[in-house]
Amino acid sequence: VDLPIHDAVLARAAEFGDIPALIDGTDGTTLSYEQVDRFHRRVAAALAEAGVRKGDVLALHSPNTIAFPTAFYAATRAGATVTTVHPLATAQEFAKQLTDSAARWIITVSPLLDIARRAAELAGGVHEIFVCDSATGHRSLIDMLACAAPEPQVAIDPVEDVAALPYSSGTTGTPKGVMLTHRQIATNLAQLHPAIPAGPGDRVLAVLPFFHIYGLTALMNAPLRQGATVVVLPRFDLEQFLAAIQNHRITALYVAPPIVLALAKHPAVAQYDLSSLKYIISAAAPLDARLAAACSERLGLPPVGQAYGMTELSPGTHVVPLDAMSQAPPGTVGKLIAGTEMRIVSLDDPDKDLPAGESGEILIRGPQVMKGYLGRPDATAAMIDSDGWLHTGDVGHVDGGGGWLFVVDRVKELIKYKGFQVAPAELEALLLTHPGIADAAVIGTYNDDGNEIPHAYVVRQPARTDLSEAEIMMYVAERVAPYKRIRHVTFIDGVPRAASGKILRRQLRERA
Ligand code: ATP
Ligand code: MG
Repeated sequence: VDLPIHDAVLARAAEFGDIPALIDGTDGTTLSYEQVDRFHRRVAAALAEAGVRKGDVLALHSPNTIAFPTAFYAATRAGATVTTVHPLATAQEFAKQLTDSAARWIITVSPLLDIARRAAELAGGVHEIFVCDSATGHRSLIDMLACAAPEPQVAIDPVEDVAALPYSSGTTGTPKGVMLTHRQIATNLAQLHPAIPAGPGDRVLAVLPFFHIYGLTALMNAPLRQGATVVVLPRFDLEQFLAAIQNHRITALYVAPPIVLALAKHPAVAQYDLSSLKYIISAAAPLDARLAAACSERLGLPPVGQAYGMTELSPGTHVVPLDAMSQAPPGTVGKLIAGTEMRIVSLDDPDKDLPAGESGEILIRGPQVMKGYLGRPDATAAMIDSDGWLHTGDVGHVDGGGGWLFVVDRVKELIKYKGFQVAPAELEALLLTHPGIADAAVIGTYNDDGNEIPHAYVVRQPARTDLSEAEIMMYVAERVAPYKRIRHVTFIDGVPRAASGKILRRQLRERA
């Protein structure tokens, strides 16, 4: 799709007109499609008048709000590349991203203004800070709506120009700036559309952050492109989330596994009317089939479907199509979307393709593969080979019959126990089937002989504080091959996770 991202997403905004595009889930404030279309053009004009030029990097530093899409599309219409910033970033972390991306402009919200100011001071080079809401001393998007300047006519090359510069989650190391062009993002939206055709009358709940590529795609770009209504929550709070589903008659959820876990296990769920829900899709981290089934059975829904992708893939390559949710084999992340190629290659020999059923590294080639990591040609070359195949670092296999992909875990997370490979995701999923376990994470640690062993970090259910290491080890031992047994258990209060829901095994490793 050769359109700038704002045109690709808002192509039908005039037609959708008065349909609510965005609703603030906390106070009910609503923006129609007509307003989002008009507002983003005005703000684009004001940004251009303020000096924003084609190719400038603008940092968008905000939790989910109904103004977020207006800020994003205004910036791209003015020709800027938007780098989205974690709203909980410290001034130091934010400054690092400003420096790394050479950002010249910031759009923030008044509660985060102090952090944005300090980050700008630390980084240097920022020309101006704008705020979405009103705040003294800075121009706000609300003021900008009154701008009388003509709409900027910036010649955007969808093939070359970078629309978004999200940073990867940093699960395995330092977050990297991922250059995604207008065409890459717009094409991926079109590729994903047939599988998840939410449209007018559908209501999605934006509880995953817009700053991460999953939320940006599934909760902002895709529903707004298709005329659905996005109900926006600033953060995940279980009771607020459940109340929003009930009160706004939410029809579709795009979530990450920790939310599926809460829906499957938390007692509060029973107190809400969630009957408006038609389907749930989970992505961003491994979701066990038993957990997915527990969730869908409890809510009386079709099996929870999955999607798979990564920041470097704009982000999607696989999804369980809506019309196949009941036939898809349990645990699959879906089928390859149109216009994309995949190979599964041996972990020992990347030139060796593996037959269906055998697990190896997932390689992807297609129009959604990133332009590269910003300023890191070596990292880019290590990721994308000379034939254009992106090496995902994920292990998976394809089911012989229907072409369904199963993701096992990340190559780097596999625990090598006495020459065998153990996937932490499999053990975590098994641990969660124990009624006394509220949450769990598994990493490889080293025992006294220097051998790597599967080590579980377990959060006990409040009613089972007596749950012992021995009981947990026995529970797992009865259900897995001997080499996969948990060899050590540590009890913790909570599992550290990234905003996208991924377990931060790195932090557990540091603790160990
Ligand atoms: P970093 O690359 O900085 O270490 P990250 O890989 O976690 O961080 P993202 O791009 O947000 O950053 O996440 C992509 C990864 O998420 C994939 O490589 C894969 O490991 C995981 N993932 C995404 N969807 C699924 C899924 N349905 N099942 C299992 N894992 C998934
Ligand atoms: Mg990654």
